[in-house]
Amino acid sequence: MAEDDIRRVAVVGAGMAGSACAQALAQAGHAVHVFDKARGPGGRLATRRMAWTDRAGQACTTRLDHGALGLDVPTGPFRSFVDQACQAGWLAEWRPTLAPGSLPLDHGQGVHVPVPDSPELCRRLLHGVVTTWSCAIDSLCWSAAGWHLEAAGQRQGGPFDAVVLALPPAQAAPLLGTHRRDWARHAALAPMQPCWTLMGVAAETAPAAVGDWDLARPDAGPLAWVMRSDARPGRARVAGQAHWVGHAKAGWSRQNLEQAPEAVQQELQAALAEVLGQPVDWLHSTVHRWRYALPQSRLSAPGESFWWDAAQGLGVCGDFLGGAGVAGAWMSAYSLSAALLQHLGNASQPGLGATAAVPAGRGVSL
Ligand SMILES: Cc1cc2nc3c(=O)[nH]c(=O)nc-3n(C[C@H](O)[C@H](O)[C@H](O)COP(=O)(O)OP(=O)(O)OC[C@H]3O[C@@H](n4cnc5c(N)ncnc54)[C@H](O)[C@@H]3O)c2cc1C
Repeated sequence: MAEDDIRRVAVVGAGMAGSACAQALAQAGHAVHVFDKARGPGGRLATRRMAWTDRAGQACTTRLDHGALGLDVPTGPFRSFVDQACQAGWLAEWRPTLAPGSLPLDHGQGVHVPVPDSPELCRRLLHGVVTTWSCAIDSLCWSAAGWHLEAAGQRQGGPFDAVVLALPPAQAAPLLGTHRRDWARHAALAPMQPCWTLMGVAAETAPAAVGDWDLARPDAGPLAWVMRSDARPGRARVAGQAHWVGHAKAGWSRQNLEQAPEAVQQELQAALAEVLGQPVDWLHSTVHRWRYALPQSRLSAPGESFWWDAAQGLGVCGDFLGGAGVAGAWMSAYSLSAALLQHLGNASQPGLGATAAVPAGRGVSL
């Protein structure tokens, strides 16, 4: 690509949608800069590193997947992306043993899981892309020179020819503000389901005592899912420990959204013991509140899975536009990057992301 054809694009958000979009644009030769308020990529494809002290006073660290359980794989380009990512070793198929009486999984018997941890998929996609972490973008400014991004009153790079917002709708709305009032209004009103998540390390019980299963989807009680995090592909098992993650149902999470974390933890621990059918000897545990876990419904019109304003060079993608889940986030990003590449003059469709490397030196520096 000739130097004159390279465009500078800012992507705000490094979850599945932002990472996939950034990769497609960078791989097509554009200068992409990704910003995220978190310390690393992944968004809701999340793994928590917990530091704790065991009963003998030893310092321990445990990594638990407290975000998306995995990727459900529908057909179409996302299927091809997942196949490529499996071949590249970024994803592994997990066919968990379901607890007796558990509701079935939505899409067949298995899900695909990034290895060795959940953010790895986004980390891989962003390899070679310029990134700035711990940077919460709080305004977008447009001038004749292009877009500028600001965080806490400081300009962040730029000017950029185009900006992509890959954020949950409530977080995209204030940034869209005056640039697209109609989108901002829609995004601000988009309902998202919350989720309280319990995670922790328990003393291992004899496997036969809990039925030796990896995943439960209980019908009754506050918990929607209970998972042995250390039973997932690529995760380390530690002798004498069981690593549990429990996601509460959306209705329960909404009712208890403003409850004190300690009270939520107590209730979810009791619910997990109920699912296991025996008390749990917790060595360390905590809860996490996801305010925006999953979109309640898809916001975009049928056939539309992203927002793109070619006149301003402003785009929006994410699961609330592409359909709930990692697949929806990816599809939204893939479709937006196709529109953006067409706008920027690239002839071809975006790459799927799991095979092609980002050309060296295509980043923008601050
Ligand atoms: C508990 C839980 C379980 C789930 N289970 C499943 C499942 O089993 N299967 C499935 O397919 N999906 C599941 N999901 C949903 C799935 O994780 C999401 O649909 C998908 O990851 C959304 O990706 P995204 O890129 O649209 O948004 P996100 O992953 O939310 O990424 C947005 C990014 O934007 C960043 N950000 C926000 N505001 C700013 C700002 N102002 N400046 C800079 N950065 C900002 C955030 O830090 C984040 O990294 C689950 C989600 C949760 C929470």
